[in-house]
Amino acid sequence: GSVFGNVVQAPEDPILGVTVAYNKDPSPVKVNLGVGAYRTEEGKPLVLNVVRRAEQLLVNDLSRVKEYLPITGLAEFNKLSANPAIQENRVATVQCLSGTGSLRVGAEFLAKHYHERTIYIPLPTWGNHPKVFTLAGLSVKTYRYYDPTTRGLNFQGLLEDLNASPTGAIVLLHACAHNPTGVDPTVEQWEQIRQLMRSKELLPFFDSAYQGFASGNLDADAQSVRLFVADGGELLAAQSYAKNMGLYGERVGALSIVCRAADVAGRVESQLKLVIRPMYSNPPIHGASIVATILRDRELYNEWTVELKAMADRIISMRHLLYDALRSRGTPGDWSHIIKQIGMFTFTGLNTEQVAFMTREYHIYMTSDGRISMAGLSSRTVPHLADAIHAAVT
Ligand code: PLP
Repeated sequence: GSVFGNVVQAPEDPILGVTVAYNKDPSPVKVNLGVGAYRTEEGKPLVLNVVRRAEQLLVNDLSRVKEYLPITGLAEFNKLSANPAIQENRVATVQCLSGTGSLRVGAEFLAKHYHERTIYIPLPTWGNHPKVFTLAGLSVKTYRYYDPTTRGLNFQGLLEDLNASPTGAIVLLHACAHNPTGVDPTVEQWEQIRQLMRSKELLPFFDSAYQGFASGNLDADAQSVRLFVADGGELLAAQSYAKNMGLYGERVGALSIVCRAADVAGRVESQLKLVIRPMYSNPPIHGASIVATILRDRELYNEWTVELKAMADRIISMRHLLYDALRSRGTPGDWSHIIKQIGMFTFTGLNTEQVAFMTREYHIYMTSDGRISMAGLSSRTVPHLADAIHAAVT
């Protein structure tokens, strides 16, 4: 027998498993609203034109070689990814394997070098968060975030839970476009969160997976993080270029640890290298080169912001189409949260049974918590989804 004979079959990933099930379904009307990746109106993946242009420039540059990057990645990429408002070099930025890898490296660093092991994550949150932090050696607790009755923010609960957390605890914050709820604090609420966190010395760990993708504007979507940078305090930020540059499979992201002073940041960076070297040695070169090519050139950068806004706008228009389609069917319930929520997802409020019904009867695939990816919708598929939701709730 095999030495691995007693290995048990693991369950599919709850999010990626939706696509596995979708791929097996032969129905011509099937729709995949599970995956968090942008699709065009034709339902196709999109490579941004600006990314194609940057890749052309890279291919044509024969001086480019395939040498290893440093442990910390491409220096220019790191510099361009960090917030220019951070003065005096008080930030350590390392290129990591997209958002997930940035979160993991940050978590490993904290488990090794930070005095408080508890990280508070919002309830609910992206399903990978508790796993990433637990495996890195942190202890995961939750704070109240979403209120199912209003389908909005439970701001009072959030403040109470952060206030009751131990001094120095780490707090995971979604920089914008909270996944899965699509519910973000207002700028005024962010300011209150900041004041509370700073007074309790809670350490912010921002997950920025959707900058620019939420509102269509990079600066507007960075407001939360910038409030915490502007007060001179410390924080971590995990950035992903998967969604906002459509570089999903290139795995390009950055971890920034903003420190009080440059000498601290230098020592922090030296320790980040000790985390990364035995994990994957150094990051891949291609994706980071694409990003650096775009960020360093004003014209390419501007083209990126236009294409980014077009993606965000298509998602927002899908929100309005779906909302109108439910209204015109007279579907019971208040569906205004579909147009109020922000970013890639709508947290529909549909329960597990209703989701199962929609998958079985309408071949609509989504996560069992009722989250749908608005980016997976098109004007062709909205009526089908509206029919399915209508049938599920009546
Ligand atoms: N954080 C959140 C909230 C996400 O939704 C995602 C992707 O779905 C990620 C992080 C990480 O994505 P990636 O590792 O592809 O950059």
